[in-house]
Amino acid sequence: MIPFLDLNEINKPCLGAIEEASLRVLRSGWYILGKELQAFEKSFADYCDAEYCVGVANGLDAIGLILRAYDFPEDSEIIVPANTYIASVLPVSYLNLIPVLVEPDPVTMLIDPGQIEAQITPQTRAIVCVDLYGRSCEMDVIMDIANRNNLKVVTDAAQAHGAFYQNKKVGSIAHATAFSFYPTKNLGALGDAGAVTTSDTELAEKIQYLRNYGSKERYKNDYQGVNSRLDEIQAAILNVKLPFLDSDNARRREIARRYLAEIKPENLVLPPADRIYEDAWHLFVIRHTNRAALVHHLDKAGVQTNVHYPLPVHKQKAYADLNHLELPITEKIHNQVVSLPLNPVLTDQEVSHIINAVNSFENPQ
Ligand SMILES: *Cc1c(COP(=O)(O)O)cnc(C)c1O
Repeated sequence: MIPFLDLNEINKPCLGAIEEASLRVLRSGWYILGKELQAFEKSFADYCDAEYCVGVANGLDAIGLILRAYDFPEDSEIIVPANTYIASVLPVSYLNLIPVLVEPDPVTMLIDPGQIEAQITPQTRAIVCVDLYGRSCEMDVIMDIANRNNLKVVTDAAQAHGAFYQNKKVGSIAHATAFSFYPTKNLGALGDAGAVTTSDTELAEKIQYLRNYGSKERYKNDYQGVNSRLDEIQAAILNVKLPFLDSDNARRREIARRYLAEIKPENLVLPPADRIYEDAWHLFVIRHTNRAALVHHLDKAGVQTNVHYPLPVHKQKAYADLNHLELPITEKIHNQVVSLPLNPVLTDQEVSHIINAVNSFENPQ
């Protein structure tokens, strides 16, 4: 069986260095907000072409701390994509802001910029765009809409470390960008971790305080902050792994290029092939009207798949107040998507096996 993702294999090339770095922290006697984090924040800001990087506890908090720092009035409306992981929307809700769901473009499956403006009201304060599956949203259009309407743009780039949009690095385009370093992401820690990148000095400083109880100076609290810090062991591990990100993404792009060129069945919908070398290819998401049959076929052929995601946010029990919404493009996507294995440790042989397995799918309609 070719596993969807094997974290042991993913981390194997740098395991020695990870062990060394972790041991260094264990023996240092300094575990939170120290020089490992400082070094990572500097390197990751540089990597993203951003002025600042602020490490936080996870990707969910990265989004939440950006929104908290903007301090929008309660009941402000925040535009969010309907096709995303629930973590993109939860922070909007727990800050008592109102998520306004916008349908995706049916080809890219990312928020449809053409549908954003119709949802803007005098209460709208921000657009959260999600670079889902590793592809950047249409940022020139989205930034233009935001500037004309005086809105902030927050990118959820939890799946898009190292992606580009028109030669700009994701992390340098929106007013603020949230990253997750959950172990399965393109850049993954060995536990929870996240970060915010921005070139807004005031925002970066405020998030630095907010992640640490709102404390500017020890025991002096200017804000009602939270505890959301990226610990030294995870920072040290990320310092080891960051130099591998570009070569890992290059391998992902090569595999995506092969899938796009060699997967044949005509009733399968493949992701768009226009940005192979800009996309971070966190996931390779294909669509079929009989997903269950395709998943069963691939399973029998020794290929483990996954579904990202089976139930949209507005159909979740946690969002009972949104259950009445009808978002047909989003619902269709959730019924049809299946993700093929795509990660830097797949061998050429495994990639061929996956392609042959997909190509031998007989298509019972
Ligand atoms: C993983 C992920 C998150 C959340 O990151 P955590 O570190 O698990 O909190 C948010 N948004 C998207 C799109 C993700 O894939």
